[in-house]
Amino acid sequence: MKIAFIGLGNMGGGMAANLVKASHDVRAFDLSQDALAAAKEAGCATFGSARAACEEAEAVVSMLPNGNIVRDVYRTDVIGQAPKGAVLLDCSTIDVATAREVIATAEEAGYDMVDAPVSGGIAAANGGTLTFMVGGSETAFGRAEPILEAMGKAVIHAGDAGNGQAAKICNNMLLAIQMIGTCEAFSMAEKLGLDPQTFYDISSVSSGQCWSMTSYCPVPGVGPQSPSDNEYQGGFASALMLKDLKLAMEAAESAGATTALGKHAKDIYESFAEEHGALDFSGIIKTL
Ligand code: NAD
Repeated sequence: MKIAFIGLGNMGGGMAANLVKASHDVRAFDLSQDALAAAKEAGCATFGSARAACEEAEAVVSMLPNGNIVRDVYRTDVIGQAPKGAVLLDCSTIDVATAREVIATAEEAGYDMVDAPVSGGIAAANGGTLTFMVGGSETAFGRAEPILEAMGKAVIHAGDAGNGQAAKICNNMLLAIQMIGTCEAFSMAEKLGLDPQTFYDISSVSSGQCWSMTSYCPVPGVGPQSPSDNEYQGGFASALMLKDLKLAMEAAESAGATTALGKHAKDIYESFAEEHGALDFSGIIKTL
């Protein structure tokens, strides 16, 4: 397929390369010349504007920083520019309201479109092992699924437009709360005289067990390899976790959902990210 790819940063670069590996004809655009050069190296054709990349595309994939940029790019360069009948896939993490608005505009103009945010970081984007949470009509999902499968290990239909974003922020709000809880438990256990490895051995097979403990332990040297074993470098940056928590709080307010712990987690990551935004989100244990 001829696929336009807009936004070739940390995530989009690897995703576009995986579409090339799956024999798609990838037409890339990014504002950054470095990102474009890397995409060319990976086998993409590069273009001087998003509009030019979309001109003959049968599908458009985007991986952009935020909702305002996604709205601008789709309104100005994609909707009405990509051929009628192209399927549009926005994989960025953005607010639910903007995702629904952009998809409605695309549908009015006759396109099928999905929101398809991802779980998994840069390594999963490079390795083609992302999980996609997809919102959109059955028809749009059916068309998007084979394209997403070339970039991920799981593609899940979450329901109507915007539900992919809803799933993503609910999941990441839970993850943030769970990580802070895991860090507090390890820190308190140590202060009470428990060895961290011993606490792990007990809690990982008891009712406190959770992903933040057994797959991503915030204590160095305990559990499987994770960013804590590398001074909290790499992994999922605290600034990105904060971005998702802010989106979650906006969505909670608009939906009238009670999220006391989500709000607390947002406040905690907000002060942590002021100085340590580049550190992995499990580095929050340093504040305890
Ligand atoms: P990034 O900043 O590395 O990449 C974004 C790219 O978009 C940049 O190369 C930038 O030049 C380009 N861009 C910005 N405005 C543009 C425009 N108008 N036209 C064309 N290109 C434009 O960010 P990233 O880490 O790749 O994240 C992308 C999205 O993926 C974000 O929504 C982020 O929340 C989400 N995400 C990131 C991760 C992660 O671990 N990095 C994990 C899951 C989801």
